[in-house]
Amino acid sequence: MDNHCISCKREITLGQKQCPFCNAPQNYFLYYLKDISAFLVLMIIGGTVGYKVLENRFAGQIDEQISSYEVRIEQSNQQINDLQTQLQSAQEKIKAIEESSAQTSGAVEEEKAKLAEAEERATKAEQRAGWLSRENSRLKSEMQSLTTKIIELQQRRPATPVAQPAAPIQSSEETQQNDTQQ
Ligand SMILES: [Zn+2]
Repeated sequence: MDNHCISCKREITLGQKQCPFCNAPQNYFLYYLKDISAFLVLMIIGGTVGYKVLENRFAGQIDEQISSYEVRIEQSNQQINDLQTQLQSAQEKIKAIEESSAQTSGAVEEEKAKLAEAEERATKAEQRAGWLSRENSRLKSEMQSLTTKIIELQQRRPATPVAQPAAPIQSSEETQQNDTQQ
Protein backbone atom coordinates (compact mmCIF):
# COMPACT_ATOMS: atom_id res chain seq x y z
CA MET A 1 0.00 0.00 0.00
CA ASP A 2 1.54 3.26 -1.13
CA ASN A 3 1.50 6.33 0.99
CA HIS A 4 2.39 9.89 0.01
CA CYS A 5 3.67 12.77 2.06
CA ILE A 6 0.93 15.33 2.65
CA SER A 7 3.37 18.12 1.92
CA CYS A 8 5.76 17.07 -0.88
CA LYS A 9 3.56 14.21 -2.21
CA ARG A 10 6.54 11.84 -2.43
CA GLU A 11 6.08 8.19 -1.57
CA ILE A 12 6.88 7.41 2.06
CA THR A 13 6.37 4.43 4.33
CA LEU A 14 3.00 4.19 5.98
CA GLY A 15 2.93 4.99 9.67
CA GLN A 16 5.82 7.49 9.55
CA LYS A 17 5.10 10.60 11.62
CA GLN A 18 7.45 12.80 9.58
CA CYS A 19 8.35 12.86 5.91
CA PRO A 20 12.03 11.81 5.50
CA PHE A 21 12.37 14.20 2.58
CA CYS A 22 10.72 17.46 3.72
CA ASN A 23 10.31 16.79 7.45
CA ALA A 24 6.61 17.64 7.21
CA PRO A 25 4.46 16.06 9.95
CA GLN A 26 2.18 13.42 8.51
CA ASN A 27 -0.73 14.45 10.66
CA TYR A 28 -3.15 16.99 9.16
CA PHE A 29 -3.71 18.82 12.41
CA LEU A 30 0.00 19.16 13.15
CA TYR A 31 0.72 19.96 9.51
CA TYR A 32 -1.81 22.79 9.31
CA LEU A 33 -1.13 23.90 12.87
CA LYS A 34 2.10 25.41 11.63
CA ASP A 35 0.22 27.43 9.04
CA ILE A 36 -2.50 28.34 11.51
CA SER A 37 0.13 29.44 14.02
CA ALA A 38 1.93 31.39 11.39
CA PHE A 39 -1.39 32.86 10.28
CA LEU A 40 -2.30 33.73 13.85
CA VAL A 41 1.10 35.23 14.48
CA LEU A 42 0.78 37.20 11.29
CA MET A 43 -2.73 38.21 12.28
CA ILE A 44 -1.54 39.31 15.68
CA ILE A 45 1.44 41.15 14.28
CA GLY A 46 -0.67 42.64 11.50
CA GLY A 47 -3.36 43.57 13.92
CA THR A 48 -0.92 45.09 16.31
CA VAL A 49 0.90 46.92 13.56
CA GLY A 50 -2.37 48.00 12.00
CA TYR A 51 -3.64 49.10 15.36
CA LYS A 52 -0.43 50.97 15.99
CA VAL A 53 -0.60 52.55 12.55
CA LEU A 54 -4.21 53.53 13.06
CA GLU A 55 -3.46 54.67 16.57
CA ASN A 56 -0.59 56.75 15.29
CA ARG A 57 -2.79 58.10 12.51
CA PHE A 58 -5.56 58.98 14.95
CA ALA A 59 -3.02 60.27 17.41
CA GLY A 60 -1.52 62.33 14.59
CA GLN A 61 -4.95 63.58 13.58
CA ILE A 62 -5.78 64.33 17.18
CA ASP A 63 -2.43 66.07 17.58
CA GLU A 64 -3.15 68.03 14.40
CA GLN A 65 -6.59 68.96 15.71
CA ILE A 66 -5.14 69.88 19.06
CA SER A 67 -2.47 72.02 17.44
CA SER A 68 -5.08 73.65 15.18
CA TYR A 69 -7.20 74.30 18.25
CA GLU A 70 -4.12 75.67 19.98
CA VAL A 71 -3.48 77.92 16.98
CA ARG A 72 -7.10 79.07 17.10
CA ILE A 73 -6.89 79.60 20.86
CA GLU A 74 -3.67 81.55 20.32
CA GLN A 75 -5.37 83.64 17.62
CA SER A 76 -8.38 84.20 19.86
CA ASN A 77 -6.13 85.20 22.72
CA GLN A 78 -4.30 87.60 20.43
CA GLN A 79 -7.61 89.04 19.21
CA ILE A 80 -8.77 89.38 22.81
CA ASN A 81 -5.49 91.08 23.69
CA ASP A 82 -5.85 93.41 20.69
CA LEU A 83 -9.43 94.19 21.67
CA GLN A 84 -8.40 94.79 25.26
CA THR A 85 -5.63 97.10 24.10
CA GLN A 86 -8.06 98.95 21.82
CA LEU A 87 -10.60 99.14 24.62
CA GLN A 88 -7.98 100.41 27.02
CA SER A 89 -6.77 103.07 24.60
CA ALA A 90 -10.39 104.04 23.87
CA GLN A 91 -11.08 104.30 27.59
CA GLU A 92 -7.90 106.38 28.00
CA LYS A 93 -9.00 108.62 25.12
CA ILE A 94 -12.46 109.02 26.64
CA LYS A 95 -10.89 109.76 30.01
CA ALA A 96 -8.54 112.30 28.44
CA ILE A 97 -11.42 113.89 26.50
CA GLU A 98 -13.55 113.97 29.64
CA GLU A 99 -10.70 115.49 31.62
CA SER A 100 -9.88 118.07 28.97
CA SER A 101 -13.55 118.90 28.45
CA ALA A 102 -13.98 119.13 32.20
CA GLN A 103 -11.02 121.47 32.27
CA THR A 104 -11.93 123.54 29.22
CA SER A 105 -15.67 123.47 28.76
CA GLY A 106 -16.26 122.59 32.39
CA ALA A 107 -14.11 124.74 34.61
CA VAL A 108 -13.03 127.30 32.03
CA GLU A 109 -16.54 127.73 30.63
CA GLU A 110 -17.83 127.94 34.17
CA GLU A 111 -15.22 130.56 34.99
CA LYS A 112 -16.07 132.39 31.77
CA ALA A 113 -19.75 132.26 32.63
CA LYS A 114 -19.03 133.44 36.15
CA LEU A 115 -16.86 136.23 34.78
CA ALA A 116 -19.51 137.21 32.24
CA GLU A 117 -22.18 137.13 34.92
CA ALA A 118 -20.00 139.17 37.27
CA GLU A 119 -19.26 141.64 34.45
CA GLU A 120 -22.94 141.85 33.63
CA ARG A 121 -23.82 142.38 37.26
CA ALA A 122 -21.07 144.99 37.55
CA THR A 123 -22.34 146.78 34.44
CA LYS A 124 -25.91 146.58 35.70
CA ALA A 125 -24.84 147.84 39.13
CA GLU A 126 -22.87 150.62 37.45
CA GLN A 127 -25.83 151.48 35.25
CA ARG A 128 -28.13 151.30 38.22
CA ALA A 129 -25.76 153.41 40.27
CA GLY A 130 -25.54 155.93 37.43
CA TRP A 131 -29.30 155.85 36.95
CA LEU A 132 -29.80 156.18 40.70
CA SER A 133 -27.48 159.15 40.96
CA ARG A 134 -29.14 160.71 37.91
CA GLU A 135 -32.53 159.91 39.36
CA ASN A 136 -31.35 161.26 42.67
CA SER A 137 -30.22 164.54 41.20
CA ARG A 138 -33.36 164.63 39.02
CA LEU A 139 -35.53 164.03 42.03
CA LYS A 140 -33.56 166.62 43.98
CA SER A 141 -34.03 169.23 41.28
CA GLU A 142 -37.67 168.24 40.90
CA MET A 143 -38.14 168.52 44.63
CA GLN A 144 -36.38 171.86 44.54
CA SER A 145 -38.66 173.12 41.78
CA LEU A 146 -41.68 171.74 43.66
CA THR A 147 -40.52 173.52 46.78
CA THR A 148 -40.18 176.75 44.84
CA LYS A 149 -43.65 176.22 43.34
CA ILE A 150 -45.09 175.61 46.80
CA ILE A 151 -43.42 178.74 48.07
CA GLU A 152 -44.77 180.66 45.07
CA LEU A 153 -48.28 179.26 45.62
CA GLN A 154 -48.13 180.04 49.29
CA GLN A 155 -47.11 183.56 48.42
CA ARG A 156 -49.93 183.94 45.82
CA ARG A 157 -52.64 182.29 47.93
CA PRO A 158 -54.01 185.37 49.75
CA ALA A 159 -54.12 187.43 46.52
CA THR A 160 -56.22 184.93 44.57
CA PRO A 161 -58.92 183.23 46.66
CA VAL A 162 -60.11 179.89 45.30
CA ALA A 163 -63.65 179.33 46.74
CA GLN A 164 -65.32 182.67 45.95
CA PRO A 165 -66.05 183.17 42.20
CA ALA A 166 -69.61 181.52 42.29
CA ALA A 167 -71.17 184.09 44.64
CA PRO A 168 -71.34 187.18 42.45
CA ILE A 169 -73.00 185.22 39.54
CA GLN A 170 -75.75 183.89 41.79
CA SER A 171 -76.29 187.29 43.22
CA SER A 172 -76.69 188.84 39.78
CA GLU A 173 -79.28 186.18 38.85
CA GLU A 174 -81.10 186.89 42.04
CA THR A 175 -81.06 190.56 41.31
CA GLN A 176 -82.48 189.86 37.78
CA GLN A 177 -85.26 187.68 39.20
CA ASN A 178 -85.93 190.30 41.78
CA ASP A 179 -86.13 192.89 39.03
CA THR A 180 -88.79 190.97 37.02
CA GLN A 181 -90.86 190.30 40.11
CA GLN A 182 -90.89 193.89 41.10
ZN1 LIG B 1 7.41 15.25 2.31
